Amino acid sequence: MINVEQYDRPDTLKEALELLAKEGAVALAGGTSMSLAKNPSWNSIVDLSDIEEIQTIEEDDEFITIGAMVTMTEIFRHPGNMPCSISAAARAVSSTPIRNMTTVGGSLARSVYWNDLPVALLSLGASVGLASAHERRRISIDELYTSHPSKVLKSGEIITDVKVELGKYKTNFIKLARTHVDYALLNVCASLEVKGNVIANARISVGGAVNMARLVIPAGELLSGQQYSDDLFIKAGETAAESIEYRSDFRVNREYQKAVTAKLVTRSLRDAWNNCECNETDGE
Ligand SMILES: Cc1cc2nc3c(=O)[nH]c(=O)nc-3n(C[C@H](O)[C@H](O)[C@H](O)COP(=O)(O)OP(=O)(O)OC[C@H]3O[C@@H](n4cnc5c(N)ncnc54)[C@H](O)[C@@H]3O)c2cc1C
Repeated sequence: MINVEQYDRPDTLKEALELLAKEGAVALAGGTSMSLAKNPSWNSIVDLSDIEEIQTIEEDDEFITIGAMVTMTEIFRHPGNMPCSISAAARAVSSTPIRNMTTVGGSLARSVYWNDLPVALLSLGASVGLASAHERRRISIDELYTSHPSKVLKSGEIITDVKVELGKYKTNFIKLARTHVDYALLNVCASLEVKGNVIANARISVGGAVNMARLVIPAGELLSGQQYSDDLFIKAGETAAESIEYRSDFRVNREYQKAVTAKLVTRSLRDAWNNCECNETDGE
């Protein structure tokens, strides 16, 4: 933050949005990546830490709404109906100090290959609340992730919350990393909307092996409208492995990325179908 001359810590969202409307202003959330940032065009920091209205987790019969300033630790400690893949993704983030600081809004907006939470939110078809001094709007996470979120957010606009429909999907999240605190080699989340023995809709997302969390649409389409069968889950894993544009990763080669994607997509689908616990894995 080399040219920053102003620091504000407003109490209300309205005040924060007015400050963010000024040229060169930038939002500060958990600070886990902002503390290393060197963008010379930023001249003022708007710290979102004191804004209570974006720090809550609220649920009703249909939806859970998670404020942008909720941390990863607060997500997996939430005593209510947090979808298990969201809890697992939050728990999978690095170490306790990082989980205590990293926020929902920061994870979504930063959006680098290792961000765990966006993978779960994409699979669950979350919607994202956005606000600027001029407008409030809600978009699907698919729209936020059509390209990097920084290109989708308008000037002065911030993420205020994410909203997820409760009970719609059987869901499962798996993170593969070399150690518990390492960045993901691969994240997978499978969410299945099941009607009787039929998969009405399937949303499969990946992270870690790609530049930014993304849906694997061909694998989801293969399953949607089909009767359950394990062979179909194996085929969906193979389809996912073939349809991903992998990032190069000094830790693993392309053959490994493909093989492990096929295997973990299939496993995540099986575990979602069988309502299994979400787990980290060592790839075995
Ligand atoms: C050592 C280390 C290991 C990590 N490991 C992991 C990991 O394994 N998995 C993982 O998912 N993450 C991990 N992280 C965290 C991740 O890299 C990012 O730093 C984090 O997601 C940023 O969240 P934050 O709340 O700290 O945001 P900040 O650092 O405060 O902000 C990040 C960016 O998001 C913008 N922003 C923040 N909030 C909003 C908002 N509400 N609306 C719009 N824009 C906003 C900021 O302006 C900034 O550009 C790790 C971080 C560190 C330091």
